[in-house]
Amino acid sequence: MLAVLLDLVLPRECAGCGAPGAGLCAPCRALLVGPPLGLVTPTPCPPGLPPLSALASYDGPLQRLLLSHKEHGRLQLTRPLGSALAAAVLVHGRGPFVLCPVPSSPHAVRSRGHDHAMRLAQAAARALRSEGVDVRAMRLLRQRRSLADQSGLTTSQRAANLHGALRAQGPPQLRVVVVDDVVTTGATVVEATRALRAGGHAVVGASVLAATQKRWVSPVRTSPLPPRGSQG
Ligand SMILES: [Zn+2]
Repeated sequence: MLAVLLDLVLPRECAGCGAPGAGLCAPCRALLVGPPLGLVTPTPCPPGLPPLSALASYDGPLQRLLLSHKEHGRLQLTRPLGSALAAAVLVHGRGPFVLCPVPSSPHAVRSRGHDHAMRLAQAAARALRSEGVDVRAMRLLRQRRSLADQSGLTTSQRAANLHGALRAQGPPQLRVVVVDDVVTTGATVVEATRALRAGGHAVVGASVLAATQKRWVSPVRTSPLPPRGSQG
C-alpha cells in the first residue's frame, strides 16, 4: 500500500516501459492517443459476440500499462487509459450510451484495492462527455457465482464456464456498450452481452483497450494484429 501511495505522489519511472522520469514517457503516451484499430474479430469467433472495437493489440508497453493500472494501482494511468478507451467506444457512434464494465469478482476487487474496469468506464465517460457525447458509466452487471480459472481453457470451454455467470441489475432498456481493459477469446463479452440482453438492454457493442495478439484479427487485416508502434 505504501508503495502504491509513493508511486501516486512520486512516480519514478514510466509505467509503460520503465524509462526513468515522471509520468508516462512520450512514446508510451503516443500509444494511447493514436487512432483505434477499429472493429476486431477473434479466431474462432464465439457465437453471440457483439461488434467489438479495440484500441490496439495486447503487447509491449500497452500490456505493461494495463497491468500497472489493474494490478499495481497506478491510478495516474486511469485518465489517459480512459481517454484511449473513449476513442474505441466512438467506433460504435456518438451515443447516447451507457458504458457497462465487465465485473470483476468481489474478491479480486478487494485484493486489487480497486475496480479497474469501472474506473476505466468512468474515465472514458468523462472523456466522451467532454466531446459532447451523451454517456455515463453504470455497473449494470454482477457476478452470480464465482468463476473457475479461465486460463488454459479453449474458447468453447470458456463459454461453458461462463454461461449464466453474470446477471443484469439496475434500470432496464438502456443502450449499452460493454467495456473492459483486455479481451482474450471474447467469451466474457459474450456472457456480458447475453446477461444485459436478458435484462432488457440493447447492447450496441463492446470496446476494449487491447485484444490479445495471437487470437484476434482485425477485419481490415488478414494477419495477426501488428504491434501498435509499427502502424506509423
Ligand atoms: Zn514509457
